[in-house]
Amino acid sequence: MNSLQEQNQGGSAASQAKPDYDVISVGAGFAGLGLIHYMREAGLSIRVFDRASDIGGTWTWNRYPGAATDSEGYYYCLAFSKEILQEWSWTKRYPGWEETHQYMHFVADKCDMWPHIQLNTEIASAEFQEDSGHWLVRTGSGEEFTCKYFISGMGMISEPYIPNIKGKDSFKGPCFHSARWPQEGLDYAGKRVAIIGCGATTVQMLPIVAQTAESVTVFQRTPNFVMPAVQKPMTPEWEKEIKDNYEAIIDKCRNHAFGMAFDSPVGRNLADTPPDEVQRVFEEQWPKGSFRFVFETFDDLLSNPESNQAAADFIISKIHEKVNDPELAEMLTPRGYPLFAKRPPLDHGFYEAFNRDNVHLVDIKDREPIVEITETGVRTTENLYEFDIIVLATGFKAYTGGIETVEIRGRSGETLKEKWQSESKSIMGVCVADFPNFFVITGPQAPFANLPTSIEQNIIWITNCIKKMESEGYDVCTPLADAEDKWSAHTAEIHDQTLMSQGDKVNSWMMGANIENKKPRILIYHGGADVYYAKLRESENAGFPELQFDKLAG
Ligand code: NAP
Repeated sequence: MNSLQEQNQGGSAASQAKPDYDVISVGAGFAGLGLIHYMREAGLSIRVFDRASDIGGTWTWNRYPGAATDSEGYYYCLAFSKEILQEWSWTKRYPGWEETHQYMHFVADKCDMWPHIQLNTEIASAEFQEDSGHWLVRTGSGEEFTCKYFISGMGMISEPYIPNIKGKDSFKGPCFHSARWPQEGLDYAGKRVAIIGCGATTVQMLPIVAQTAESVTVFQRTPNFVMPAVQKPMTPEWEKEIKDNYEAIIDKCRNHAFGMAFDSPVGRNLADTPPDEVQRVFEEQWPKGSFRFVFETFDDLLSNPESNQAAADFIISKIHEKVNDPELAEMLTPRGYPLFAKRPPLDHGFYEAFNRDNVHLVDIKDREPIVEITETGVRTTENLYEFDIIVLATGFKAYTGGIETVEIRGRSGETLKEKWQSESKSIMGVCVADFPNFFVITGPQAPFANLPTSIEQNIIWITNCIKKMESEGYDVCTPLADAEDKWSAHTAEIHDQTLMSQGDKVNSWMMGANIENKKPRILIYHGGADVYYAKLRESENAGFPELQFDKLAG
């Protein structure tokens, strides 16, 4: 019996039938590591499963060349250990996947997390057991485990989306999704590479692959607003400044609308600023790089259409400065949708790559749509392009795709996938009505923010909810349908006030609009991550009114 259960004075007989683990979680990325820390600290037993052969989640799957964080690394990390924050050193502003992966190993080693992690194990199903209040969890190979709390740490951009392009299995060379870049590496030097898709992944991948490939051809449907990242090495002075102020930096993240350590709101709107001053502010911010261009310039860029258009026009002018060929620059220019209706990528030489002789762009929206993939390449309505390698950088089934790979069956017998067929409702992205003792980390209708910040805030809420369950002797907590309806309605109301609500016009994954034959939906709480974190705290302080707590009859 764990320490929390020992404190329990009023536990029912049912709670004495001990499951294999207090907590089973799926996903050994940031969420899995964070959960191990917080659950262990709460005195609970936990097992984290992952189908991958290593920990890291996103950072173990996305090994494509150029994969790096778009948040600045020094706050793209777990904050639970002051010691780790001080001991770990980042080498650059945006660490690559290798470095982020090494950091995660450092955390797992330092905190002795490995005994709680089971890799190479796919979880196939999880079923709530009404009589015991436990979850019965089955692996792909048929092993069974029970737990009291089942938690998804499967990530919100983890399940690849592969469009149904005719003939894609007929290609003779390697043809794979970018998030399944061969783990052993792939020699693309001197090869003809096709990249289908032109989102954040391609923006990072292209400049690196183009350096040694014979040629790279990008098949683009919708151009993006790509802002400069401005990579730079970590200097001893900068590191000292960060480490001397880590508490304040983490605090800044927790009080920022996107969970970033940004200095915003800045207290001025573009709409109230004279045009010359707007230009001056944009020009000053642009070379500094990162999403700061949006958040540290004016406060109304994501809410006021005219202000948003002014920022969009500025970015477009920069695209035309960077790309030598005006026709190519125009092909790369996003038009007809607001900045942030699609998640904008950060640029590490993306536009400049198109000035190389070995990089080609094919407009598959207006000029020559893809007809099929053949044995030797890609056929469009106009041409047959021959390749040695085809990379499908076609995005993800965001927010729900990862979770839906597991057949999670709640109280009514309905699976989560069935429940989320037309709407993906939740309570604050952390729990779902009809799924007792089940939690999600950064589920649908949570904010889109610097993920480690949100992940940790979610884990804290979940841990405190479980602590209440254990210390007060409850067997089952049931997320209430009423609370779910309220949160979804609130999320929808805010969503409609932002320019992100136009994402369905441009296949934005932020609305699930990138998936063929699936209705776009409201997947993100846009009320601000800071406001959302405060709502999580409010819920805790009020004793989790969104859930009903019950003891099973003994
Ligand atoms: P994405 O932004 O969804 O881009 C997918 C691309 O594939 C789009 O250009 C899309 O075109 C295209 N596409 C989809 N279906 C297609 C089809 N049937 N035919 C032709 N093209 C098709 O995916 P992503 O680039 O992998 O990025 C997804 C998200 O992952 C990012 O927004 C970001 O949040 C995260 N990510 C983060 C980082 C980082 O932080 N460092 C790096 C990479 C990714 P349309 O736009 O026309 O639909």
